[in-house]
Amino acid sequence: MSKSNHHDVIVIGGGPAGSTVARYASARGANVLVIDGRDPIGTPLQCGELVPSNDEMKRLCPDVPDMDELFQTPEEAISRISSKMHIVPPSGKPLKFDFEGLVLNRVAHDEALVELAKQSGAKYLVDSHVERVEGHNVIVRGGETYSAKIIVGAGGHNDPLRRDHWNESSLKIPVKFVLMDGDFGEAVELHFGSMAPGGYAWMFPKSSGANIGLGIQRSFSKGRSLNQYAEEFISKYDGNISFRGAGSLPMSGTIRTFVKGHYMLVGDAAGMVLPSNGAGITIAMIGGRIAGQVIAEHLTEGTSLEEYEQRWNQQMGKVMRNSKRAFRFGSMLFRLPNWMLNLTFNRLTKGVIWRAVTCRRMFWLF
Ligand SMILES: Cc1cc2nc3c(=O)[nH]c(=O)nc-3n(C[C@H](O)[C@H](O)[C@H](O)COP(=O)(O)OP(=O)(O)OC[C@H]3O[C@@H](n4cnc5c(N)ncnc54)[C@H](O)[C@@H]3O)c2cc1C
Repeated sequence: MSKSNHHDVIVIGGGPAGSTVARYASARGANVLVIDGRDPIGTPLQCGELVPSNDEMKRLCPDVPDMDELFQTPEEAISRISSKMHIVPPSGKPLKFDFEGLVLNRVAHDEALVELAKQSGAKYLVDSHVERVEGHNVIVRGGETYSAKIIVGAGGHNDPLRRDHWNESSLKIPVKFVLMDGDFGEAVELHFGSMAPGGYAWMFPKSSGANIGLGIQRSFSKGRSLNQYAEEFISKYDGNISFRGAGSLPMSGTIRTFVKGHYMLVGDAAGMVLPSNGAGITIAMIGGRIAGQVIAEHLTEGTSLEEYEQRWNQQMGKVMRNSKRAFRFGSMLFRLPNWMLNLTFNRLTKGVIWRAVTCRRMFWLF
């Protein structure tokens, strides 16, 4: 193995989680290599492309410091800023909420994160699929081996480090979506009920056209396929489809441990998606910042890597717990027939539904 193959840190995956780890670890002098199977990173698109604005993030995750420093979304990565969210039951009659969301150009968003990490000094190796991790070695397809003191799994829901070295399963929701041409108004829409059993459907308007899709829990789907549900929901909207995509979302929340010896997991690989609303991009970046900072402190001052889990719990523990609880409650609720669900979404329950979606306690005791 040549000397240039030795690093302080190897990050598997250069998505929002991995690039953020790389940005913060290399800013404090760590020698970081990010290895990603894609070229360019971020393509093809696999996303609904909605993130809360920085102000919404401050309300959603009140224990997370310095949001404006973390989220520096450049203008070219923002397609539309929406100020309304409609939560829509099967009746189609929405409950309307004030909510500031950024509908992204996700590919440009992820490219900007790569750029920030490179400016901090991180190196990238693209088009290189990581096959496996053994000890301190990362082996890519073709047999080339890279080594590091610390190895971070940020490879999303199929991360190879998680697959081979963690014995934990997550509920994964399969998702299909399209980009459609046309004018879809200003509000972002989340739909709940039999159109997306056990999951939800969305319509997020962009500056031109919209991102429309849905995810389901297979155990709720009564023998119908994801394709059938997706076609049925998408066909309610009128316009030419310019892109079709699919993916998978971990929806059972964070796994028990993120650190094993010199291995760490972050982002989707660690289950860092808020299950009650599907937010994963910003949450992966929150986890990525903590991991990157702790890695830098570990290398310079000997801070324990487990400090990453403690800081995550301080910043995100409450929000994640509330979100998991809301998701479990929603999963029971969404087994109800549509007519009952329609009755459940009303002016009296509006506040509780919003608290569930925004990861706050729904009820006084619950
Ligand atoms: C269809 C869909 C819609 C979504 N919509 C939204 C949304 O609207 N808003 C939101 O906040 N979140 C959304 N999410 C979730 C969000 O995309 C993820 O939570 C977020 O991307 C997590 O970031 P990450 O860096 O952990 O993983 P990823 O973004 O998945 O990045 C992982 C990276 O690792 C690389 N990689 C994986 N395996 C390997 C390997 N073996 N070797 C080398 N490289 C590898 C991949 O190429 C990829 O670049 C959606 C997800 C899906 C699938």
